[in-house]
Amino acid sequence: MTAQPTRPLPWARRLNDVLDKFHEIHGGDRFPVNMENLIQEVPQTFRTGEPIAIQGEAMDPEFEGALFNLNAEQPGKGNWAIIYNKAIPSAGRIRFTLAHELGHYLVHRHLHDEFNCNEADTLHWDSPARQMENQANEFAAHLLMPRPDYEAQIKSATIDLDVLGGCADRYGVSLTAATLKWLEFTPQRAVLVISNKGLVQWARGSQSGKWLSIALNKKLNGQQRRLPSQCATMLQTDSNVDRQGTKIGARNWFSDEPKDMALREMPGPLHSDVIHQKPPRLHEI
Ligand SMILES: [Zn+2]
Repeated sequence: MTAQPTRPLPWARRLNDVLDKFHEIHGGDRFPVNMENLIQEVPQTFRTGEPIAIQGEAMDPEFEGALFNLNAEQPGKGNWAIIYNKAIPSAGRIRFTLAHELGHYLVHRHLHDEFNCNEADTLHWDSPARQMENQANEFAAHLLMPRPDYEAQIKSATIDLDVLGGCADRYGVSLTAATLKWLEFTPQRAVLVISNKGLVQWARGSQSGKWLSIALNKKLNGQQRRLPSQCATMLQTDSNVDRQGTKIGARNWFSDEPKDMALREMPGPLHSDVIHQKPPRLHEI
């Protein structure tokens, strides 16, 4: 048997190869990944000798899931349980959480006997303070949304909430998770902003949109930033969600952008998901 990976991405690729081969032979839908089945197969397929059970329990809303070693007192005899919060109404979030906990099992089970994961752990992909959480998310995102398949889905499509929503449906994940994955590889300058009651909760940029998200995440006098009063999100109502995006002057959001620079703003459902996207800055080429 070939050596087993130790890092999240090689593990996700290994599992994707297993799933590709399985569906090639047996047919059935390759996506979304059936996490319950996959988790139960992993100990046997990779001969870990450490079984995993899965159980859903209704818990507080901020709790997403956990991985425990039930045999913590007996070194070398891992017997693991994944608990997920079945009170969460989104099947996509639960699927992502199960993949996240499997990531802890494969990459981190030799380091700890217990992992408790809340919503911040499964959403904040770039917090340096939470390296293990980031790795579990990286694993989950690549397992559920393999980049080659994702790129093939969007091809040269103009990205809007329908395109990203279609990918979220294909992979059985939340719109936020699908958008974060797209931001990882898009060459476009784009940023996802999560807001609540007109305040920026957090923002995440693509590679070329990183500075935009840094500006939005920076607190002003210790306070989260307010959304600009003239942005599409603030001007639209919940019943008037523009899924293709509204073109507005970039300076509405970012004061140091050129005067004639436009951006496309897509206010998401309930104003919790907002994407701003610009064409490349021609004067920089
Ligand atoms: Zn975690």
